Amino acid sequence: MQSPVMLITGASRGIGAALARLAAGRGYAVAINYLSNQSAAQAVADEISAAGGQAMLVQGDVAQESDILRMFAAVDAHWGRLDVLVNNAGILEQMMPVVDMSAERIARVMNINVVGLMLCCREAVKRMAKSQGGLGGAIVNISSVAAKLGSPFEYVDYAASKGAVDSITLGLAKEMALEGVRVNGVRPGLIYTDIHASGGEPGRVDRLAVNVPMQRGGQPEEIAEAVLWLASDAASYVTGTWLDVSGGR
Ligand code: NAP
Repeated sequence: MQSPVMLITGASRGIGAALARLAAGRGYAVAINYLSNQSAAQAVADEISAAGGQAMLVQGDVAQESDILRMFAAVDAHWGRLDVLVNNAGILEQMMPVVDMSAERIARVMNINVVGLMLCCREAVKRMAKSQGGLGGAIVNISSVAAKLGSPFEYVDYAASKGAVDSITLGLAKEMALEGVRVNGVRPGLIYTDIHASGGEPGRVDRLAVNVPMQRGGQPEEIAEAVLWLASDAASYVTGTWLDVSGGR
């Protein structure tokens, strides 16, 4: 039997890379999307292959609709099926209060984190929904606890983008409830990845860990475990909801 196929956006580093490794170990054929860090993406794919798993690379910018269409077409051509989409690619920008934010910056964050994610959802639904001739599937959207906290003086634009992701998850889950497609989200807390350096503070997780009830940051694999559960048949009656994986924050 052919392995189920999982497409993960932004899987060259951080949470996406950890998920790709774990998913491959649990029997998924994994399509690893990345933006520009080809060597990091290749390293993840090589590790999966060396462990006996299946991986392919799909370069593409989720802010570009043409790239998204090309990514999904590449997965169609290579494996001919899509069972799980994990919308993980996301960015944040330099920490600053709203009063200093440019229109260009806000648009960049929204384009990648919201518009790109929604277009990837659309392409997945075209392939998964029963009314479209699909066999069903699951979508997991990576949001953030920032959607609940608002990220004041850091990146309210990013928090707002994740609020939008949560609304997309809820609305699409309801649209897909009779289509065999479950749509859920994971809201990570403070996780050790490179993303904090792009906000200007690589050590942000350690600085803020004291505010987390568990008093520590999380590892990317702890997010990946939640995604894999939501994607699996073990979550067959779960749709339109979220798992906060945030140490109680
Ligand atoms: P990361 O370490 O910065 O990795 C980002 C990944 O996204 C990389 O693989 C990168 O590819 C890719 N990417 C960036 N822009 C892209 C684009 N336009 N198109 C396609 N891929 C793109 O990030 P992370 O911390 O693992 O975050 C993953 C997700 O978790 C994001 O949605 C983030 O908002 C969310 N999250 C993270 C935390 C946290 O504390 N880390 C907390 C809450 C939520 P390249 O390697 O090619 O650049």
